[in-house]
Amino acid sequence: KAKEKGRNRYCVFDQTMHKEALKTLLIQTDLKKALIKEEFILYYQPIISLSTQELIGFEALVRWNHPQEGLIPPIEFISLAEETGLIIDLGNWVFFEACRQAQVWKKQYEKAASLKISINLSGHQINEVNLVENIDRICNLTQLDPKFIRMEITENILIKNHQIINDLFQQIKERKIQICIDDFGTGYSSLSYLHNFELDILKIDKSFIQRNLNELKTIKILKTIIDVAYNFGMDVVAEGIETEQQSKILQDLGCKLGQGYFFGHPLNAKIFEKTWFETEQASLINY
Ligand code: C2E
Ligand code: MG
Ligand code: MG
Ligand code: MG
Repeated sequence: KAKEKGRNRYCVFDQTMHKEALKTLLIQTDLKKALIKEEFILYYQPIISLSTQELIGFEALVRWNHPQEGLIPPIEFISLAEETGLIIDLGNWVFFEACRQAQVWKKQYEKAASLKISINLSGHQINEVNLVENIDRICNLTQLDPKFIRMEITENILIKNHQIINDLFQQIKERKIQICIDDFGTGYSSLSYLHNFELDILKIDKSFIQRNLNELKTIKILKTIIDVAYNFGMDVVAEGIETEQQSKILQDLGCKLGQGYFFGHPLNAKIFEKTWFETEQASLINY
């Protein structure tokens, strides 16, 4: 009897696996057409000054508006796009669309005039030979001044190919684009790359902010990251701030910038501009 049960369970598991594999296969096929069908969409999340609660910029976050599955988060398709090589075209689209939208807002709203636009880049894009050429083309097309762009990359990119990355960063710096290290603390964190590369901004990964902030150990590690960043002349953004308490503690630790649901969720362009440019910011955050 037990054996039968086990076998049944095995069958169910097998079927679920089959269903999952099928779904992946469907998504894979759909993904290739999604760009042409214009199914990708950017959401925007505010980045805030912790002391003044002022908006200082926003991060573009891609979603896939799948005709059957609905809004699919990036975690479910970015690595697939990387495996299939689609990430290059998708990445270029994201870059273009974020710059286009930023420039539209800058022209339309005075509040947006000095804001930075943060754009995530995959390691595959960093290794792509035409990256700088594409960036130049996009800035020309959209008329966005590149000094407003912040490129977000993860630290794992920095462990390989020093020379290529150094040359690339040199070209990026010439254009006054800022380089931001995303999800700091989750990868091969090493002081040597803070020493080897001139990075402008460090984003502390949300897993640190969401640890128990009543523990001295947590506070010490946050304080250390923040001090290291400022000692290297970098700006610091605390990611994943969900509560007022987290915001206050990060501010007390000297962190100047924050991002997270406490300040605002990622929103589509229409709702983002209604929320952040067409209403009084001060009334949104009640201290
Ligand atoms: P990320 O760049 O670290 O972006 C921050 C993620 O944290 C976003 O998830 C955002 O929605 C989420 N988040 C923001 N505030 C909070 C908070 O208070 N609490 C919690 N729990 N989460 C918060 P999202 O949009 O699902 O994106 C996930 C990741 O996908 C991004 O992490 C980034 O690595 C990648 N990604 C997103 N858009 C792009 C893109 O256009 N290109 C590439 N290559 N990667 C992208
Ligand atoms: Mg990011
Ligand atoms: Mg992050
Ligand atoms: Mg992330």
